[in-house]
Amino acid sequence: MPRSSTATTRSAADTAATGRARESSALIELRGVSRVYRLDGLAVAALSGVDLEVRAGEFVVVLGPSGSGKTTLLNLVGGLDAASEGEISVAGRSVTGASRGALAEFRRHTTCFIFQTFNLFPGLTALENVEFGAEAAGRKGAGSIARQRLEEVGLADRVDHFPHQLSGGEQQRVAIARALATGNPVLLADEPTGELDFRTGVSILDLLRGQATAGRAVLVVTHNREIARAADRVVELSSGRVVADGAPAGGRAPVTDLHW
Ligand code: ADP
Ligand code: MG
Repeated sequence: MPRSSTATTRSAADTAATGRARESSALIELRGVSRVYRLDGLAVAALSGVDLEVRAGEFVVVLGPSGSGKTTLLNLVGGLDAASEGEISVAGRSVTGASRGALAEFRRHTTCFIFQTFNLFPGLTALENVEFGAEAAGRKGAGSIARQRLEEVGLADRVDHFPHQLSGGEQQRVAIARALATGNPVLLADEPTGELDFRTGVSILDLLRGQATAGRAVLVVTHNREIARAADRVVELSSGRVVADGAPAGGRAPVTDLHW
């Protein structure tokens, strides 16, 4: 696989954002990936021999109970942790074996990361939080990008609010807008509805689904089986291993059909 330059990745991001053209190859590719944590001489295999592919335009849910390796998987794909074994490539870039500098560059230009607990800067307004996302990715015109992204997530009238002045669902929307402001093609979300009530969670899922429709590769991890029903594909993890990978049983459900 060719190692792409920043320019290539950024044009992939632009393509993903507008949905003009879909890439036929996988944006996320894992081959034989393992992650072993060593703690006080004890080895814990958080992931073992994981193979996974996610293409542009796909909404994939990784489902598994607590401790099954979901966060570990997401952190590896996002270049926030290093695999013990195997190969990971994201948007044509090899993540495994990359230097710290190359990984920093990778994170800035390849992924949008969304956390369960939002991780907004409490001293920055919604607009400033989202501007930060665009600036971190080195984009010009961060202010107008941020306004546009906030409008897209339905928060045009909350731009000057600080996080503590927003509901949980609104904070998660700001976090999503911040991730999208990077313009990056791969969206990674770790239990993005875990802190939210059901109704708000459904609206957040709808927003994430829409990002796949727009051409991004979207990978959401959750312990909530109901959320998996809205996926194009469900990858089940058990004790760090993939035990199932396919369409949700009964076919993909509209998010409005979900209940938990
Ligand atoms: P999940 O997100 O599915 O709950 P994690 O990926 O967080 O699972 O953890 C998978 C396994 O790896 C668990 O057994 C957990 O205890 C272990 N683990 C995670 N992070 C570390 C760490 N930094 N050091 C040691 N063990 C860890
Ligand atoms: Mg987790």
